[in-house]
Amino acid sequence: FIDRKPTLMTVTLEKSVEDFVATPRQLFIDGRRVDAASGKTFATPNPATGQPLAHVAEADAEDVERAVRAARRAFEGPWSRLTASERGRMIWRIGDLILEHTEELAQLESLDNGKPLAVARAADIPLAADMFHYMAGWATKIEGNTIALSVPGAAFHAYTLREPIGVIAQIIPWNFPLLMAAWKLAPALATGNTVILKPAEQTPLTALRLAELIAQAGIPDGVVNVLPGYGESAGAALAAHDGVDKVAFTGSTEVGRLIVRAAAGNLKKVSLELGGKSPNIVFDDADPEIAVQGAADAIFFNHGQCCVAGSRLFIQRDRFEQVVEGVADIARGIRLGSGLEPDTQMGPLVSAEQLQRVTGYLDAGRGEGARTVVGGGRHGEQGYFVQPTVLTDTRPDMKVVREEIFGPVVVASPFSDLDEIAAQANDTTYGLGAGIWTRDISKAHALASKIRAGTVWINCYNVFDAALPFGGYKQSGWGREMGHEVLEAYTEVKAVCTRL
Ligand code: NAD
Repeated sequence: FIDRKPTLMTVTLEKSVEDFVATPRQLFIDGRRVDAASGKTFATPNPATGQPLAHVAEADAEDVERAVRAARRAFEGPWSRLTASERGRMIWRIGDLILEHTEELAQLESLDNGKPLAVARAADIPLAADMFHYMAGWATKIEGNTIALSVPGAAFHAYTLREPIGVIAQIIPWNFPLLMAAWKLAPALATGNTVILKPAEQTPLTALRLAELIAQAGIPDGVVNVLPGYGESAGAALAAHDGVDKVAFTGSTEVGRLIVRAAAGNLKKVSLELGGKSPNIVFDDADPEIAVQGAADAIFFNHGQCCVAGSRLFIQRDRFEQVVEGVADIARGIRLGSGLEPDTQMGPLVSAEQLQRVTGYLDAGRGEGARTVVGGGRHGEQGYFVQPTVLTDTRPDMKVVREEIFGPVVVASPFSDLDEIAAQANDTTYGLGAGIWTRDISKAHALASKIRAGTVWINCYNVFDAALPFGGYKQSGWGREMGHEVLEAYTEVKAVCTRL
């Protein structure tokens, strides 16, 4: 099934990758690869060419049923009988196996998602391994507290236990397919839950390969089940299922609302990592070279398909032209191409739908009077490439300023001072990330405290670490991933109270 256009394939694929995409991929339920109950499959395309890359079994409600039963059996059976230390060692082993398979996983990710192979090698794969290694250490450190009660005339011994929630459904997007799977799976496993993971229909391949590595690490059958399929069928069935105790979702704010509604039936717990429209703020005292490069990286990394993309660039008035020109210059120099070409700096968007969506926003921006400094349209005729784009002369009410574009498109506007910029930065329904570029560290911290967002980067951007909690204020989400904060998202607290 693989598309072998020589111009798009200058990297030699590993034999295991060739075989993986050439064989129709099955669902992963109860430790085994199985066909969908319906027998249906779907094609995942190569975004650099638009041609089918691999064929994958398509899960629907019946497969969800099977997977939920397997996850429940594993939760009540073998998984709960392991010690925390045994669990931790297996989770650590998953991290090791990911690192041992870096090249294979990076090639699969680049083929399926479109991102440059070098980026997958240097970022997606090692960060995914880090997440398992970091969470493996927490498995033995899930602790409650002892609590002093104030009941007059009686003595009590009271304490809390932190227990796994149970069967968790996890639904993830396509922008960092393996990394999003790791962010979800590692903490759920460290805290003793079992999981049904639904990767995005655009990028199911690395999650399916990860399921095999997880089995190889010794994780018992049924603890992790992977169901590729569409949101409206497999995803919706998972979110609504009464046998699921929690749903953890990363994706658009629009679908986040559907998840909340679907979860209401059995009032399952919900955590959400949603969209963003993050402000990136450059003061006139910032190092110009560093700030310009930082502003460009903040929006163009991963082709702008980052929930935290620095898509609203605010520049202090005196430096406005200089920074806009600097970012535009970088945009002009970015080499677009297939993720597998060694000198590619920006690959295609993930799908035809994304291409349409992003170019639709570019048209809307022009229609509303924005000025295109660089870029502004599709790149080439084949594949889903979009030119890195800088827009100016925008107004706060424009669609391109208010809505998440999820592509390599930044809107730049000037600001005057600290008080004004806090209000402008917060003028959004989202609250995921923010960047501040200045040499004045007091000013940076003063502004950081005023910004309503889950992460504020000062003189850096897109820095992720398994130890750093990540998540959104406002309509960017509920709860946090990573850091020790995520342990709360995957545990119930039980108070035990004994009269002495
Ligand atoms: P999406 O919401 O369309 O899809 C995300 C996932 O939800 C996919 O697996 C999809 O199949 C599934 N889904 C779709 N409809 C569903 C339904 N009715 N019920 C259950 N599941 C359903 O989003 P997308 O286009 O794949 O991803 C882009 C969005 O994700 C952006 O808005 C981006 O900001 C957000 N995102 C957020 C984070 C974060 O951590 N906050 C990270 C990555 C992406």
